[in-house]
Amino acid sequence: MRDLSTDHRWLSLNTATVRKQADFVGIVEACAKKGIRVVSPWRDQVAQVGLDRAVRAVKDAGLDLSGYCRGGMFTADDVHLQEARDDNRRAVDEAKALGAPCLVLVVGGLPQYSRPGSVASKDIGAAQRQVEEGLAELLAYARAANMPLALEPLHPMYAADRACVNTMRQALDICERLDPGNSGMMGLAVDTYHVWWDFEVLAQIRRAGQKRLLAFHVCDWLVPTKDMLLDRGMMGDGVIDIPHLRRAVEAEGFAGYVEVEILSSDWWGRPLDEVLDTTIQRFKTAV
Ligand code: ZN
Repeated sequence: MRDLSTDHRWLSLNTATVRKQADFVGIVEACAKKGIRVVSPWRDQVAQVGLDRAVRAVKDAGLDLSGYCRGGMFTADDVHLQEARDDNRRAVDEAKALGAPCLVLVVGGLPQYSRPGSVASKDIGAAQRQVEEGLAELLAYARAANMPLALEPLHPMYAADRACVNTMRQALDICERLDPGNSGMMGLAVDTYHVWWDFEVLAQIRRAGQKRLLAFHVCDWLVPTKDMLLDRGMMGDGVIDIPHLRRAVEAEGFAGYVEVEILSSDWWGRPLDEVLDTTIQRFKTAV
């Protein structure tokens, strides 16, 4: 396992972690100042400053990317289905323009929550089938653009409104059905927050192997968790054995950046400097 305690060259900052403190350009500049060499941008933050400006900011700062967040939300009623597909193609194009190594996908839950305006449905099975169809179609487009798709299974508490793919097993089953040759174009984003509780997590990391381990996201699970979406913890503040999971992915050969992704109204309320300094310190001691 890599020793991360002496420097933070393998640290990537997911820009949602400080989305309230600065715009994308401000975040990139702050990262460069702190010696954070890698970011993973969110689409809405890029859109806010404009894609061209975002691309220039990344280039000027000499930053690398660990992913692009996020495509997906494939579930929709018939009226909104094309909208979902077009939007995902644009996400692939943006990821390409920014030089991201993969497009991270949060696949969507029940249609009415994933694609606003869609008709209400309680059919989670239909949503899961729709995800697979949407993924299959996007994969063809992504292949042509040479942009790998990183499917991110989300904790099951998000099944209704964000993602009806909730375990590594489920996500890998999909990868194997859609990309049986393991071409390198489809794999997983493994996020400690979403998978730590799963009794199969180690077995599924082994099953994924290096080729399907496209991204590794870290943050911590706080007890008690006060908000389903915005109470993720800084590494070391919760109950996840993050080094244990990192050891497992690295044992498979994962040698990419470790992406810190903390969606937290608590951390959003703190100064940018404090969040970045704490992130770097915890990266060295708790990851
Ligand atoms: Zn994540």
